[in-house]
Amino acid sequence: MLNANIFYSDYNVLFGFLSLFLGIAAVFLVRDYKYYRGLLLFQIGGLILVLLTYLSAHEHLLYKIGLNFNFVTFVIMLLSLLTSTLWINAAAELYSNTLANKEMLTLYVSFGLTACVYFSFLDYDSGRGYYISPIFTLLGIGLLFISSLFHFNNNRSTGSVLLCVSIFILLGKLVVSSCFVKYGWLNLNLFNKLWIYVFVAAVIFLKFNIYQSELQKSWNAIDKLNIQTNTMIDLSPFPIVISRLTNNKPILINNKAGQIFGITKKELAYYEISDFFVDEKNRGEFFNILEKNHEVEDFDLMVCNLVNATPFWLSVSAKPIEYNNEIVLYMAFQDITLRHEREDKMQSQVDKDPLTKAWNRRYFEKVVPEKINECIRKQQNFGLLLLDADKFKNINDTYGHKSGDRVLIHLADLCRNSLREEDVVSRFGGEEFVIYLNNAGSQAASLVAERLRSVIADSSVPDDNGNSIKITVSIGVVSSEKTASLEVLLRQVDDAMYLAKNRGRNQIAVYDEEAVKKTAKKSTPKNRNIHPVFQNEDNEEISLLDSYENKIL
Ligand code: GH3
Ligand code: MG
Ligand code: MG
Repeated sequence: MLNANIFYSDYNVLFGFLSLFLGIAAVFLVRDYKYYRGLLLFQIGGLILVLLTYLSAHEHLLYKIGLNFNFVTFVIMLLSLLTSTLWINAAAELYSNTLANKEMLTLYVSFGLTACVYFSFLDYDSGRGYYISPIFTLLGIGLLFISSLFHFNNNRSTGSVLLCVSIFILLGKLVVSSCFVKYGWLNLNLFNKLWIYVFVAAVIFLKFNIYQSELQKSWNAIDKLNIQTNTMIDLSPFPIVISRLTNNKPILINNKAGQIFGITKKELAYYEISDFFVDEKNRGEFFNILEKNHEVEDFDLMVCNLVNATPFWLSVSAKPIEYNNEIVLYMAFQDITLRHEREDKMQSQVDKDPLTKAWNRRYFEKVVPEKINECIRKQQNFGLLLLDADKFKNINDTYGHKSGDRVLIHLADLCRNSLREEDVVSRFGGEEFVIYLNNAGSQAASLVAERLRSVIADSSVPDDNGNSIKITVSIGVVSSEKTASLEVLLRQVDDAMYLAKNRGRNQIAVYDEEAVKKTAKKSTPKNRNIHPVFQNEDNEEISLLDSYENKIL
């Protein structure tokens, strides 16, 4: 019968706990295969503790125990050895195959823990251990067998062979030791001790070596694959950037990306992704989509060349990938500057008058109401000017239509150059321009109108024969102090412009209800002279009054 004290000494419990703790720590560490080497050290540490446990028990009670002791010790040693071996297996499994074989890992871990617990806490009093240990041995053998099957299924020949060898050694040991007992061939104590030490050393050595060489092979294969991938990335005609997800620092760019962003690979460490993706809002949108969908496809990104600080557009597809043992962001770009330029050009063709490049009426009607709303919100005033070339018919008649066109271009240029970005100069038709003045009261609007009038009057345009064509304009002025209705203001500015015409042209006139009433218009919109350009549906010279009569703004 077995004595309980052998396996239940204080040392045993302490070492058992430590071994268990190391095993659990190993499970946590092994989640990230970068800690593989650390894990091995833990395992070896655990194994040394197991040996110490054995020795401490052995010293005190060896002679009282005899054969039974050797048998139980053998099983326990074997289980603890297997525990340790299996921890290493688990680590290698994770290391070589990342997290693919979870069932396998679970099996190893559960077996390892079972063995640890068994080894540390079993009470052998009253002979229970005598029956339990063979049961656990059989359990171990069964589990080993199942794990070998897993191994075979996954073609992991080395691991499988090793596990099978373990089973054979285990069985062989049982057979051999029973023969020795039966026939009294050798001093069994000595035999068992030697056998266990040799077995422990051999298996550890073998395991370690095999995994070491397998790992080396895998590392070589990974290195080769990395070189191939890097070459492929480098030769790609599309710009490719790989950046760290944690701090948005680029860690790899290919040749094309280097060219397009204006940096070399050596300088990479000094930059962050935000240095390339210059538009904060656009960049924010990109990262939002990435966070939500875990990938981005064909997103239009505003980027910048760091050498000449030129912003341009790229389409980007991005996805987090595993690269060199970390999760990084892979971004492949496509140059879409041309597409954007084409789109911008098309848009400006839609919104601009082809002759003068002033905004057209469609654009005015789209943008000005928004600007007016903004003004109202900010409690600001705005002004409208209606500028009409004086006696323009005469210019056409005297110098020809081509020169007339040149004068119109000249007028539009002067207006644009004399006004601010936020003002809108639009050609409503013929030789009439409507100008929206942002944040301007009646006084400011009059000043602007007068400045425009005098700049135009002082200027001249050369005709085909080198003569200079002089031009003057009459300008109607209104502002939003009394009403902010665009419809009303356009009608009033039309009246104001006719006041200026009536008062002798080449002057500005602020809208004045009384004066308008007294002054009959010289001509009505209906009988105004219409240039052939505006006779088609889209460009027809439309009276401000006509168009707004049926329109609700
Ligand atoms: P007023 O001082 O009363 O404004 O006289 P006006 O001659 O300028 O006015 P009217 O409306 O009688 O004539 C406008 C002329 O502008 C007639 C039209 O042929 C000419 N015109 C309109 N659009 C164009 C254009 O795109 N190019 C040229 N060259 N002439 C145009
Ligand atoms: Mg005119
Ligand atoms: Mg006119």
